[in-house]
Amino acid sequence: MIRYIDDLQMTGKRVFIRVDFNVPLEGKRVTDDTRIREALPTIRRALEMGGKVILASHLGRPKGPDPKLSLEPAASRLADLLGPKHEVILADDCVGDGVKKQVKELKDGQVLVLENLRFHKEEEANDEAFARELAALADVYVNDAFGTAHRAHASTAGMVPFVKEKAAGLLMKKEIEYLGRVVKNPEKPFIAILGGAKVSDKIKVIENLLPKVDALLIGGAMAYTFLKAQGIEVGKSRVEEDKLSLATKILDAAQRLKTSIVLPVDHVVGTEPSDKSDKRETPDRAIPGDAMGLDIGPKTRAQFTQHIRNAKTVVWNGPMGLFEVEKFAEGTRVVADAMANNRAAVTVIGGGDSAAAVQQMGYGDKMSHVSTGGGASLEFLEGITLPGIKALETK
Ligand code: ADP
Ligand code: MG
Repeated sequence: MIRYIDDLQMTGKRVFIRVDFNVPLEGKRVTDDTRIREALPTIRRALEMGGKVILASHLGRPKGPDPKLSLEPAASRLADLLGPKHEVILADDCVGDGVKKQVKELKDGQVLVLENLRFHKEEEANDEAFARELAALADVYVNDAFGTAHRAHASTAGMVPFVKEKAAGLLMKKEIEYLGRVVKNPEKPFIAILGGAKVSDKIKVIENLLPKVDALLIGGAMAYTFLKAQGIEVGKSRVEEDKLSLATKILDAAQRLKTSIVLPVDHVVGTEPSDKSDKRETPDRAIPGDAMGLDIGPKTRAQFTQHIRNAKTVVWNGPMGLFEVEKFAEGTRVVADAMANNRAAVTVIGGGDSAAAVQQMGYGDKMSHVSTGGGASLEFLEGITLPGIKALETK
């Protein structure tokens, strides 16, 4: 069982919240504060509940202390977002006597942001002594950093058993609820739409979802490996030659399970994967020798839309084409649009590029859930219990 922040008593307690403030920076400026905004509901709730809030995050991949990767810009952005009622203090480290003192002196309504956890290599090494030092700062541990929940680090896993109470934050709760619903008890018809760059990245997702779905729709570059495995001409399209026999095995497994795998029946093709390419549509599944598949074609878009319309649960990972180039973005847009328009369905998006595509196209708030964790959401869909979530489980 996992408890959520609302289940705990926080008044006067030191509440350590693992957030994901791994934001993009340009010098001292946060260029995208989405992750900070997404952590706000949990931070505000802990403050309202009377907790003394301590925030911890990693930022980038420092090799030891590095002023360029200080959490200072994130802390000052947080201060703007929280408003004048709350003072945000940045510690100069995440462990040590100075930090202990700052925690002790923390007043109601103040927020202490610990300096970048990865300034200590012990964070990623999940070092026990370091984990105990972090744990000593807290009475309550809250994890709201879904994006790093697939990593067993000191702040996401190691420290948790050493803190008296533990819970998931509100963002983490939403991730667990929606992704959990998809992999555990989806309302039927349940369809999965997979695309993106490579079959090899998605094998475990396919293996985990295939026995659960009513249909698996495949687009994106990974579709060409499946088509080629069936003996269809794919021209210059991206194919993983070493995955052809695996593709055949997956198609056979689907047949045994009586699950339909729906592959593209036509394509948008071009000469090269860039905006300099020409754009043509193929009449059927075959791709001419001089062309590469760069998006799903109009008949495929219509078929996929039909499947999405009839579904009660839809999970989508992997763009349908080279969506970064506008002329090859239509397949991705049509899938997003169909999902957004099926108001009766639970619609969940996982994967970094897929989430970016959906947000960029303006469909983010029309889905039931767009996961904030690229790698973490994929591992969740693979059926893995993420170490950061496992650590939150109580008996
Ligand atoms: P996610 O991050 O959502 O899991 P992936 O990383 O697997 O998705 O795939 C995203 C990438 O796949 C995008 O950069 C997209 O341009 C690329 N892609 C999708 N279809 C094609 C295609 N037909 N040809 C080339 N690249 C493609
Ligand atoms: Mg990706």
